[in-house]
Amino acid sequence: MDAEEFRKRGREMIDYVADYLSNIESRRPMPDVEPGYMKTLIREDAPVEPDQWEDVMKDIEPIIMKGVTHWHNPNFHAYFPTANSYPAILGDILSDGIACIGFSWAASPACTELEVHMMNWLGKMLNLPKEFLFSPGGHGGGVIQSTASEVTLTCLLSARTKIINQFKKNNPSIEEGEVISKLICYTSSEAHCSVEKAGLIGAVKMRILEPDEKGSLRGVTLEKAIKEDKAKGLVPFFICATLGTTGCCAFDNIKELGPICEKEDIWMHIDAAYAGSSFICPEYRPLLDGVEHAMSFNFNPHKWLQVTFDCSTLYFRVKDSRLLAGAFVVDPLYLKHDTEGEMPDYRHWHIPLGRRFRSLKLWFVLRLFGQKKLQAQIIQDIKLAKEFEKLVLEDKRFEISFDVIMALVCFRLKGTNEINEKLLKLISEDGRIHIVPSNFKEKYYLRFAVCATSTTSEHVQFAWKVITEMTDKLKV
Ligand code: PLP
Repeated sequence: MDAEEFRKRGREMIDYVADYLSNIESRRPMPDVEPGYMKTLIREDAPVEPDQWEDVMKDIEPIIMKGVTHWHNPNFHAYFPTANSYPAILGDILSDGIACIGFSWAASPACTELEVHMMNWLGKMLNLPKEFLFSPGGHGGGVIQSTASEVTLTCLLSARTKIINQFKKNNPSIEEGEVISKLICYTSSEAHCSVEKAGLIGAVKMRILEPDEKGSLRGVTLEKAIKEDKAKGLVPFFICATLGTTGCCAFDNIKELGPICEKEDIWMHIDAAYAGSSFICPEYRPLLDGVEHAMSFNFNPHKWLQVTFDCSTLYFRVKDSRLLAGAFVVDPLYLKHDTEGEMPDYRHWHIPLGRRFRSLKLWFVLRLFGQKKLQAQIIQDIKLAKEFEKLVLEDKRFEISFDVIMALVCFRLKGTNEINEKLLKLISEDGRIHIVPSNFKEKYYLRFAVCATSTTSEHVQFAWKVITEMTDKLKV
């Protein structure tokens, strides 16, 4: 494909994507396929001679779209949203065109510097304490990573290196393995499963703590666990607190947890993967109070801030970023450059070496939406969730399981878990809307999330109509 053909095909592809997204409501949110559906549709081997463009395009509907889950269908209400917008897609096209690998400042100065500025723009939008922002002579700052899971692992490994170094300073002959065997970290049973995974990869003990009845991890619970573990000779070093848990969108009490962590020299990481975007709205910013106690903070603009996957932002509040980055520094000569030190070399801030120019799509989104429109979308989504909550409350057969704080409504039929499982089965078989369940302290409930930006009040009413139709079938 030469440049001329690329221009032509590029226009065709843009048309295809615009048509897809404009007409997405005509497709079922979930595809009607079984595992292995593609096997009979696709060739066994890659073509030896090139295919024609037309042939590839012809295959998109029968092979690809047949098995696509349409996350941007306004009737998709599962999980949490994944963001998408035309400005972000266009920013990504430019990133793909430039196709640089910005592992250090010298590897592509614009790639690093735009990221530094975008992290500060975003950090200021969230009103993060200034210690989390880049400033000349300061050592905090933000970095874009792929996913919240990767970020949690990065922070856990950094905290692990920090505590190992502290031990070694006091006792240079101590083996790393001996220190690691004593380490213990904490999270809530409502934390995302990626936190537990980070503990597994980091080879450290992770104690799962029980939250209160609202799903919030409280200071007294942490304090008690620390006391018990220290009495056993263990060394608490890291906690992952969540603002906006995956199951029920609960908020851990970071104002209680933070001071305990500071007193005990425990690294508090905050995972606000979904809810973090809402903190750009002044009315939701109080939910972030207590962040000043955290060593690191993460949220995913790719969930709720119009930035297409992947864009997970991590902020560090550190007095010495070299200490923090210690976990990831390997410095072969071929990666060194003459201007080290003034700007971050982001390869030291995460696990991979290579990194895409992801700040471009963020730049496009922040400029082409502006803060006001981004805030308006979040406020609108939460309003729609409240509308759904009202419908649930008006039907005496149902109950609300958790306070509706963000754009997620957790609800259930009054009664057994089994009857709720049956209801979900009927909804899924019907296929007009898509929702998923979760459970809390053995109680099964359904989650209704406002996901697509095209979801309106009509879709909320439609979802409730489907749910009540299915409920009527159950004759409860
Ligand atoms: N943390 C929370 C609170 C989440 O809700 C999720 C996913 O929904 C994750 C982490 C994992 O996100 P990612 O896919 O970016 O790793």
